[in-house]
Parts: sequence; structure tokens; C-alpha cells
Amino acid sequence: MLAPELVLKIEKMLGKEGVLSHPAELMVYECDALTFHRRAPELVVFPKNATQVRDLVRLANEYGVPYVARGSGTGLSGGALPLEGGIVLEMARFNRIQEINVRGRYAVCEPGVLNLELTRQAQRYGLHFAPDPSSQASCTIAGNIANNAGGPHCLKYGNTVNHVLGLEVVTPQGELVRFGGPQGFSTGFNLTGLFVGSEGTLGILTGAWLRLLPEPQSVRTLFASFDHMKDATQSVSEIIASGILPAALEMMDQLAIQTVENSIYASGYPTAAAAVLLIELDGLEAETHSSALVIRRIIEKNRAVEIREAADDVERARLWAGRKGAFGAFGRIAKNLYLQDTVVPRTRLTEVLEKVYEIAHRYNLPLVNVFHAGDGNLHPVLPYDEDDPEDVRRVLAASEEMVKAAVDAGGTICGEHGVGLEKKDFMPYIFTDCDLEVMTRIRRLFDPTGLCNPGKLLPSTHMCSEFREKA
Ligand SMILES: Cc1cc2nc3c(=O)[nH]c(=O)nc-3n(C[C@H](O)[C@H](O)[C@H](O)COP(=O)(O)OP(=O)(O)OC[C@H]3O[C@@H](n4cnc5c(N)ncnc54)[C@H](O)[C@@H]3O)c2cc1C
Repeated sequence: MLAPELVLKIEKMLGKEGVLSHPAELMVYECDALTFHRRAPELVVFPKNATQVRDLVRLANEYGVPYVARGSGTGLSGGALPLEGGIVLEMARFNRIQEINVRGRYAVCEPGVLNLELTRQAQRYGLHFAPDPSSQASCTIAGNIANNAGGPHCLKYGNTVNHVLGLEVVTPQGELVRFGGPQGFSTGFNLTGLFVGSEGTLGILTGAWLRLLPEPQSVRTLFASFDHMKDATQSVSEIIASGILPAALEMMDQLAIQTVENSIYASGYPTAAAAVLLIELDGLEAETHSSALVIRRIIEKNRAVEIREAADDVERARLWAGRKGAFGAFGRIAKNLYLQDTVVPRTRLTEVLEKVYEIAHRYNLPLVNVFHAGDGNLHPVLPYDEDDPEDVRRVLAASEEMVKAAVDAGGTICGEHGVGLEKKDFMPYIFTDCDLEVMTRIRRLFDPTGLCNPGKLLPSTHMCSEFREKA
């Protein structure tokens, strides 16, 4: 339980409207979009500026209370879960776009700015923010930076790390520091790079300079359906091997197609298809034109049953609606969904996907697949019922096997959702003891008390509670 004196100090700083402490209100913050793990915080606070964040971190240190930053809580790895209770710093009200610098092609954002809102504002000037997670209407820039988020168009433009020029951070020791800046150059240690993907364990982000890209001259969106999954995956491998880099290359399997078509996101996908591909090209008109011809040849050769091309922005938006709304539509299949995130080499997509279906079948679990095929980022979705312990056991066991299958094929344990709580004990699958020891040392250097988002990212054997005792 928090010291009443600490709560009073925080209420004085933020006002009563900036603090939640009633158990019913705290329940909302007991998990993120990975609902397997739950733990309610003791307090939720809504800072509105960096000074308040700094003072909150200093108070947490003074009273020895753990704390974790939270954006919109759409994370899928338990990153924003207050594992040891304590304080959740909710960034929703710290959410202004401070500047869109059109000539310099960058934006200055507070942490709680929503991803889609940044692009909407930037589009008024013919610019956009490239990372576009499917959750972009609700997730925050800080959550994207902390998890190094990806999205359909990150195939061509790279995950969030490629679009962060500089950061303002409150360190776990209560200092307000800046790494990098609007020009994107970092002299000395590249601490911006270190912070991106650190999942809220190295401090609290209070501001970011973000790269904006010009809207492309031409965009072409192709849609292809297949009678066999193998033909779709083979097309993906051949498109990548051809040297063409689409802006996006997404795949959905039959259950995904059918579920979307039965929902408000229906996009006219053929429900009898075993798989569909959504391929987007952008760039100069001549370039997208010639690339589309090559891609058509590849998918025709791989027995595409139907090929469509969006004639205008309205048709393009319709084709994308099903893909972007897929996870929402999956809510129709089961009470709970477990969304896995692994990466496999694109040359081994066919074989790993077959293995993933085999695992689901062996555990007698339904499986839906919708994923960023172009960069080998698989998202098997396992529907389940959290009130059925046997269902939960099978989902967890199957899911771990899927992660191992990706690693065995030369892939990795996560592509964009973060390690968080969910995969921290899978870290030894891809890192040696020595690698993990170096990471633990870095974390300890930033956070000697181990109070900043404890219990995440590093395996239990390298946890901060351990080093808290040693400190
Ligand atoms: C339907 C659905 C679709 C999704 N699609 C994608 C996708 O295509 N690509 C993708 O990458 N992800 C996707 N996600 C996952 C999720 O949306 C992303 O991980 C997103 O970046 C999380 O943002 P958030 O604001 O919700 O962060 P939260 O979930 O609130 O937090 C995520 C992590 O960021 C940390 N954090 C938050 N704010 C700060 C801060 N100010 N300082 C330091 N650390 C902070 C938290 O501590 C936590 O570790 C999807 C999720 C859902 C539910």
C-alpha cells in the first residue's frame, strides 16, 4: 500500500482530477491488450508535462515505489502492466503535437500523441509518419517508440527506430535529458537508438522529434486471391527475390477472410479463397507502373485466382479496411484472442507457416493468420476462453512451440510487439548468457533501484528485483 503522504503529495502536484485511486477505476489499468496477465496498480496518475513526470519519478524513488509508463494500453506483450503494483503514469493527457516543421520534415510530439493523429495533421502538408501499426487509431507515439512498433508499410520504410530523430526522456534517476535532435545526428553514444525498443525500462519518454516523409507521387494497391496458401507464400518469396520492395505486402488466411467478411469491416474479399495478398506499391508513377507489371506476372505464375487493382483512393481504402479491421473482427470468433508475433526468414515462410498450422491442429486449437508477409512477420492468432484453464494451457504451449519453430528456422521471438512480460523467458532462445548480462548491466546503469517497469524484457534470471537486492 502506498504511503498516504505520497498520495497527498501527488494530488497536490496534479490536482485530484490527475489521480485515480478507486479500485474500480484502477481495474481499467490492470492489463494491456494481452489479457493473460493482470495486476492492478495502486495509483494511476496523468502528468501533462515533463517537469511533472520528472517530479513523479523522483517521488517514486524517494518512497521506493515501482512505476510504469502507459500510452493507450494496446500493447500485446504485457509491457504496460504494473507487475509489482505501484504507480501507472498514464500519458493520455500529455498529448500535443508541438510542431510540424514542413521544411525540415519533422514533427515534435509529446508522448501521448496518437499515431494516426500525427499522420492526419502531417498530411495537411503533404507529409506522413511512416510507421502505421494496425492499432494506429488508438496507440501512442511513446508506445510505438518503446516497442519499436512496425506496421504494414514498415516493409519498405522500416520500423519506428528508423523514424526517430531525437528524444526527451526522464531517466529513472529523475534527470530530464535529451538524446539526438531534429537533425537526427547523434554525436557520441547513440542513446536514441538504445532507448527505442527499451519498452519503458530505461526511463519515461516525455518528447520526441520524429521524421516525416513526403506523400508518394503514386500509389498502387493490388489484391490477389489464391486457392492454396502455398501459392500465396511462394508469391511473397518471389516478389521479394525479384528485387521489388513493395510499401506493404500483407497476407490473410481463409478464416481471417471469412471472419472479416462477416463483420462491419467486410471488404469484398472472396470467402472461398485459401489466402489473399494485399500488395501496395508507392513511389514515382513510372516505377509503380513497371513494378505492378512484374508483380502481376509473379502472382499469375503462382496461380492467383483473382487479381484486382484499386482504381482510386476509395477502392484502396475499402481493400485496406478488411486488413486493418481484422483484429477487431476476430472478436466475433471467441471471447479471448492470443496474438503471437514472430519473425521468420522470408525464404522459409511456406515451411514455417505449415508448421504453425500443424502445431495448432495438434493442440486442437483454431488458428487465424493475418500478417506482414513481406517482412516475414507472422501473427498467428489463437482464439480461446480465458475461463477454461485447459484452453489457456493449450494456447500457451502451442504458442511457445510456434515461437521455437520461428527461432529454429533462423527467425526471432518478436517482430514488433515487444518482449514485455510475455516473452522475457524466451530471450535465452536468441541471446547467450553473456548477451543478457550486458543488457542487464545497461539496465542497471540507467535504473539502479530497479523501480522503472520492473519484471519486463529481461528473463526472470536477470530480473531487476534481483539486482535491487544487490544495489
Ligand atoms: C488490434 C491491434 C493491432 C496491433 N497492430 C500492431 C501492428 O501492426 N504493429 C505493431 O507494432 N504493434 C501492433 N499492435 C501492438 C500495439 O498497438 C503497439 O505495441 C503499440 O506501439 C503500443 O502503443 P500504446 O500507446 O498502446 O502503448 P502501451 O501498450 O500503453 O505501452 C507499450 C509499452 O510502451 C511503454 N511506454 C508507453 N509510454 C511510454 C513512455 N512515455 N515512456 C516510456 N515507455 C512508455 C510501456 O511501458 C510499455 O512497455 C497492435 C495491437 C492491437 C491491439
